[in-house]
Amino acid sequence: MKILLRAFCLLFTFTAAAQDIYIHSGNLVDTKSGKVLGNKTIIISGDKIKSVEDGFIQPGASDSLIDLKDMWVLPGLTDMHVHLESETNPSKYLERFTNNEADDAFNSVGFAEVTLLAGFTTVRDLGGTGVNIALRNAINKGKINGPRIFTSGKSLATTGGHADPSNGMNRLLAGDPGPAQGVVNSEEDARKAVRQRYKNGADLIKITATGGVLSVAKSSSNPQFTVEEIRAIVDIAKDYDFHVAAHAHGDEGMQRAVKGGVTTIEHGTLMSDATMDLMKQYGTYLVPTITAGKEVSEKAEIENYYPELVVPKARDIGPKLQSTFGRAYKKGVKIAFGTDAGVFVHGKNAKEFGYMVEAGMPAMEAIQSATIEPAKILKMENELGQVAPGFFADIIAVKEDPTKNVKTLEEVEFVMKEGKVYKN
Ligand SMILES: [Zn+2]
Repeated sequence: MKILLRAFCLLFTFTAAAQDIYIHSGNLVDTKSGKVLGNKTIIISGDKIKSVEDGFIQPGASDSLIDLKDMWVLPGLTDMHVHLESETNPSKYLERFTNNEADDAFNSVGFAEVTLLAGFTTVRDLGGTGVNIALRNAINKGKINGPRIFTSGKSLATTGGHADPSNGMNRLLAGDPGPAQGVVNSEEDARKAVRQRYKNGADLIKITATGGVLSVAKSSSNPQFTVEEIRAIVDIAKDYDFHVAAHAHGDEGMQRAVKGGVTTIEHGTLMSDATMDLMKQYGTYLVPTITAGKEVSEKAEIENYYPELVVPKARDIGPKLQSTFGRAYKKGVKIAFGTDAGVFVHGKNAKEFGYMVEAGMPAMEAIQSATIEPAKILKMENELGQVAPGFFADIIAVKEDPTKNVKTLEEVEFVMKEGKVYKN
């Protein structure tokens, strides 16, 4: 009898604890239909959305209610291009010599949290030292607050290329980094580097197909991989179910990346019409990072903020990102939202929406580029990017209609990730 009673008590405790959360949403931005829906009740059970019902349904005695009747409710946003290990500052280049991985790790905790609180419940981290892998794991285990991270670990470059970690160092310090450090110079190196990323725990591969702005090297845009090397990377990446993201400013390197089979082109600055057509043919996405372009142009005018070699590149490339995005959008190239946060301060990711709309993309499409489109790239289209049954309970809310004033997304009032409220 005593045992039976105890079993009953345990059962009772269990059912009482398993409560649902009801959200009364006055305006629900439906990313699938591209419409704003009237009064709805979103019912959340655990980390997933159980159902979305018409009207305002009252919760049961053991459930809780969140009132967002006066707000605009959206699925959590995704930024497909961030660097959570670091953030721009006047000593950034010195930090390469002074910081240990533990310093980057402690810094990244704050950057991850501020990103989540800005409404970005998922991000793709496109390169750091590899601290981003530990950061992802710590967030997944609930040790710290941050967005769901898909990370490339350390990016892949060729010798002297945009992500060669020893660029600009004297010969004693530079050494000769290889595939383990993400530097490849042959198809064989490429295979080893991808397999090393798998071993390290990455979710995808990032390559630097052309020169870049912030590396201590002369060219911002020359091609830096052969098409054969890119193909080798993409082919091996498939064995591990990795997609490949390619940083590219220059047109030739970009074309090689598209032909080599990458999934996304990051920045895309000097993209020709022919490359846009090629991207449409291959189904390649552009991740625009307009915000980073604007920010580096501004910083280039601050004396000694960047090394001497970087300043002319920032002045040249920075201002061109927005107009290229506008052309690519109008031509029908697929777009996935991404900012390059870290190149500017974390948490300001949503500024990108304003720049996208300014360049000619309707606000609803900009929102879709940060919700349903990334979900496709991440092969999570049945779990991320919509407020719908079976999807993760990643939900945000803003005060105004974001399809009319997209800048309202810069001030997110409510953030839920996997059914847990982080900001209200
Ligand atoms: Zn980047």
